[in-house]
Formats: sequence, structure tokens, C-alpha cells
Amino acid sequence: MTSITTLGSHCALQVLKGAKDEGFDTILICEKKREKLYRRFGFIDELVLVDSFNEITNQQCTSKLKDKDAIIIPHGTLISQMSSSEIESITIPIFGNKWVLRWESDRNMKEKLMLESKLNVPKSLASPKEIKSLVIAKRHGAAGGKGYFLATSEKEYIRKRDKLVTEGLIKGDDDLYLQEYAFGVSAYLQYFYSPLKNELEFFGVDRRYESDIDGLGRIPAPQQMETDTIPSFNVIGNSPLVLRESLLDEVYSMGERFVDTAKRLVAPGMTGPFCLEGVYDENGKFMTFEFSARIVAGTNLYVDGSPYSDLIYNEPMSMGRRIAREIKNAKNENRLSEVIT
Ligand code: AMP
Repeated sequence: MTSITTLGSHCALQVLKGAKDEGFDTILICEKKREKLYRRFGFIDELVLVDSFNEITNQQCTSKLKDKDAIIIPHGTLISQMSSSEIESITIPIFGNKWVLRWESDRNMKEKLMLESKLNVPKSLASPKEIKSLVIAKRHGAAGGKGYFLATSEKEYIRKRDKLVTEGLIKGDDDLYLQEYAFGVSAYLQYFYSPLKNELEFFGVDRRYESDIDGLGRIPAPQQMETDTIPSFNVIGNSPLVLRESLLDEVYSMGERFVDTAKRLVAPGMTGPFCLEGVYDENGKFMTFEFSARIVAGTNLYVDGSPYSDLIYNEPMSMGRRIAREIKNAKNENRLSEVIT
């Protein structure tokens, strides 16, 4: 009996609920400090308790999961807590393409995948000396926006960078990626690509509420000018959004270009959930500043289905459940190797 497992954080509840709804046994790899939280949910069959998530590569944990014929569903916590090499060395099957996660973690590879997909991407800067207009400095990996900052000059950049170094969040320039700031309405486009059906499904869209940049708008400009805190982009939660229907055609085209490019650059391609993240400008043109090559936490909004998944499925279909459905279909068709790495 195959079971579905994931790390206890990010979107674990949605993923395991979806797995249970599709008839799988569910296992949560859970840090001891979070045991009490996750014991509250009846759809989690078993907890594997660890001191730290890195333990999933050790012998004891691996053999426990192999005994249960487990498939790991990767999410943002896996990427933020483990290096790409550590993830690639996991011997338990991972749903989707574990090799594409390296392309998510490395900003330069990420930019290449987006540009080759013919997405509009804000320009990146090779050095702070090139700063002439508003830029955002971002950390590598899935940092969730923590420690990001804005700057309009090299001088301002240096002051803010040094503060992050003092706080121990970064070591220096190499930990930061500079990108032109894109103005507009933010939107995080959630997709699922099924290699079994060779079909792309648009699953939903959300916005992020980020601290404390989103809180700044609540205080008047004179007080904003007086604060000497450096606002960050740390995600606190997500809210739902639906798009003007006239934007949907391009939403699908962008997703399809991304899937085609991933097939070409990083075999076996973009299996399962992914997200294109950016802003719409005043002409409805989407600037993609980022992608996630796995399920995003914004899908937690739609545990019962989204306005878009409802158009495809006549039953509540969360992203977590969609993943489990793909695994179930792959097993039934003897094609499991096409959806795991
Ligand atoms: P990321 O880690 O790239 O998803 O960035 C975290 C947050 O920073 C995003 O959710 C946006 O609010 C903001 N952000 C990142 N890149 C840009 C950009 N180029 N222009 C505007 N906002 C950005």
C-alpha cells in the first residue's frame, strides 16, 4: 500500500488531507516541537518524529519510509531547509521532478528558465554599482521574502546589506540577487501539469500578505518617512483573487511555455504543481519575477477547490488532492515512474 508523506509545515495539512481523500495512508515527518499541532488532525495516520528535517536522509528515517512505500511531496520547507544536493540525494521517491528544484533555488538558473520560456522578467543587476532606479534585493532559495529589501542607490543598498549581515541573515553580496522592482497588481498563478494526460490545468490564483511591507501602507507618509526600520517581504498569509477572464488565455500560454521549456532544459520536465509569480501592469501585461517548481502555500486557500478547479472538476479538488489523484492514476496505469524522481 503506497503512502504519501511530507514535512510538517507549509501546506502539509492540505497535502495529507488530499491524500487521505484519495485513499492513501498518510505519514507526516514532524519536528517534535510541532507534534501537538499535527496530532489534532485525524487524516494523518502516522507521525515520524524528528529533531530536524535533515534527518529524512538518515538511515533510520529512510528505511521507515521505504517500509511504508512512501512518496514524498516536496514543498517550500524542503527547499528552504535542505540544499539542492541534499534533496537530490534523497532515495525515497519524490513526487515531481526533484532536479527542477535546483532551478528554483538558484536565482541565475531560475532567471534562465523564465527567459527561455519567453516570460517578461524584470531585469537583474550584476552589481549594486548598476542601481539607478528602484530595485529589490532578494535572498537565494525559498526564503519566503524574509530579509529582502528595496534600494534606489548603491549607498542605500550598502547600508541595508550591512544591517542584514549584522543580524546574521546573510554573509554578504553573494547571498543577494538584485532585480528591478516591478510595479503593479501582484498575482501568484497556480498550475498543475499532468504528464499522464500531457495537459496543463490552471488551478487558482492568490495574493500574498507580506510583513511588514504590506503594513506600511496603513501609516501616513510622514510617519513612514520617520521610521528607520527596513521593511521586509516575509509572507504571513494569502488571500484569494480571481482574474479578469480576458487575462486567462495568456495565463495558459505562459504556463504552457514554461512546461515546454522545462521539458527541454531539465528532464523529465515540470511535473505536477508549480507557480508563476509576478505583477500585472496597467495594460494587463504580466511581469514574472519568480517561479516555484512545486506546490505553493497559496493553494492552502482552496482546500475545497478554487473558482478555477471547480471549472475542471465536479468535486472539491485541492492541489494536494490533485497530486494524490495523479499518483493514483499513475499507479493504476502502471506509469508511476513518469510522475516521481
Ligand atoms: P520572491 O521570493 O521572489 O517570491 O519575493 C518575495 C516577495 O517580494 C514577492 O512576493 C513580492 O512581494 C516581492 N517581489 C519580489 N520580486 C519583486 C520584483 N521584481 N518586483 C516587485 N516585487 C517583488
